[in-house]
Amino acid sequence: ERTKLAKLRRLPAVTTDGEHVELQANLEIPAELPLIAQAGAQGIGLLRTEFLFMNREDLPDEEAQLAAYTQIVEAMAGDPVTIRVLDWGGEKDMEAQASGIAPTHAGPNPALGLRGLRLLLKRPELLEAQFAAILRVAERGPVRILLPLVTNPAEVREAREIYERVARRLRRKGVGVPEKLPDLGAMIETPGAALAADAIALEADFFAIGTNDLAMYTLAVDRAESEVAHLYDPLHPAVLRLMQFATEAALRLRMPVSVCGEMGGNPRLVPLLLGLGIRCLSMNASAIPRVKQAIRSLDISDCARFARRVMEQSDPERIQELVMSQGQVLE
Ligand code: PEP
Ligand code: MG
Repeated sequence: ERTKLAKLRRLPAVTTDGEHVELQANLEIPAELPLIAQAGAQGIGLLRTEFLFMNREDLPDEEAQLAAYTQIVEAMAGDPVTIRVLDWGGEKDMEAQASGIAPTHAGPNPALGLRGLRLLLKRPELLEAQFAAILRVAERGPVRILLPLVTNPAEVREAREIYERVARRLRRKGVGVPEKLPDLGAMIETPGAALAADAIALEADFFAIGTNDLAMYTLAVDRAESEVAHLYDPLHPAVLRLMQFATEAALRLRMPVSVCGEMGGNPRLVPLLLGLGIRCLSMNASAIPRVKQAIRSLDISDCARFARRVMEQSDPERIQELVMSQGQVLE
């Protein structure tokens, strides 16, 4: 079984009828880099940059960030790296005061407060340093930038203005910045972003659907709260409908769209995700072989038919049954 999975590393993630699926890794700390190479990922679909800001009193400056991104981009040897700018706040708030990032007042409800992109737009100097470091590493390999917790198109527009301003400043200083700036994408991880995906698609270069927060905000169930964990259901029809709406908004514009939440790493959910039109999944590196195995056993038209059946359902239990029965076919 282990050798079978190891052999998979060199095989393409392609369905029986020849559709290619991009399988990328999520990275939380640089120590995971060797795992990514072992798993045969085609790049990093989600580089969470919070590790740079944790367990320290001060903020990492542009040079310190550049060094960290350079290590990662060089280790990926030409495969694309999607760098998400700081996603602080909410459940990721533990060290915020130590790093002096967030205001000491957490607000009445941190999950709905100053976090993610909102925090960065309030503290543009954080965003500027991060954009500058990412633009400087772009010479070393293909990178893209991802904005966390977007809720409306104006936020993306405002972030892009800052991005372009930083690029102009670097060029004036004689720093080599690629003529075509790396793509700037939006996380779709709130119901508001999903339902306004057609408007956000006009401002963003790509989408990454974050199913962890999307399920949390859609179902009003904190992802870290064990008392309501039984209600945390990414297969709830409300979550699936939002994912479908956002995916279709991207596909209509031929804009890249990926799924990078935990759902993307579950082999049982692959038929549904492919059936909804997703062709790029980013997940924990360790999940890649099994997801690839699932893809290699599937036919796209079967997936599309299956997704239509799932999306006709409105009963969460029936959806669970359908998806799990499909999963057994895979094993
Ligand atoms: C998500 O919310 O699904 C996601 C991928 O981001 P994170 O888990 O880092 O919040
Ligand atoms: Mg998230």
